[in-house]
Amino acid sequence: MALRNIMLDGEPILKKKCRPVTKFDARLAQLLDDMKETMMDASGLGLAAPQVGIMRRAFVVVEEDSLPPLAQDDDAEAPGNETAADTANAADDKAEAAIPEPVFVEFINPEVIETEDEVLGYEGCLSFPGKYAAIKRPTRAVVRAQDRNGEAFTYEAHGLMARCVCHETNHLDGITIDDLAEFFYDPENPRYMGEDDTEGEADEAGAGTEKAAGDAAPEET
Ligand SMILES: [Zn+2]
Repeated sequence: MALRNIMLDGEPILKKKCRPVTKFDARLAQLLDDMKETMMDASGLGLAAPQVGIMRRAFVVVEEDSLPPLAQDDDAEAPGNETAADTANAADDKAEAAIPEPVFVEFINPEVIETEDEVLGYEGCLSFPGKYAAIKRPTRAVVRAQDRNGEAFTYEAHGLMARCVCHETNHLDGITIDDLAEFFYDPENPRYMGEDDTEGEADEAGAGTEKAAGDAAPEET
């Protein structure tokens, strides 16, 4: 695997429509592996092929739930120092200690086939570092796609992941956050989302689609 360069705002390739993937070969597998590594290195939740200069309809995401929780300093015990006194909390500790491997999903030739509701929330993009756009996205999205072997599957995404899969699908049509933003986050004049958003949703969305939750969130100034 290898890190690839992330194309930044201003690169014409980000505004082009990508072609379908037709060859499910070792080269595609290499691209997907590289994209996952590049995404994790940049603390992203999603990355589309055009963002690494490849004009093909493919993107990867990492499921938000599979990432370790952030700001867990109070739990930062060294492993292996449990005592009998901790036994009562063993189940909880296990749940927290046993952070699973990140769960990646690869989408080839994706199509958003169903959406539900819409909510305005902030999202970031690895191609627009430091910018958070307020964009309306569905709270639930179903995507039909192929995996790296060409097998069809459907994927149902909710909340931040629904925002993420819509954002990544847009990339494949050359649509980026500057095209969709109702406004951008301004740390001098933060605007929070409509009353019908729960605070949780606003916070979640504020973390940014392509930034792992809490990392460089708009709350940080
Ligand atoms: Zn993006």
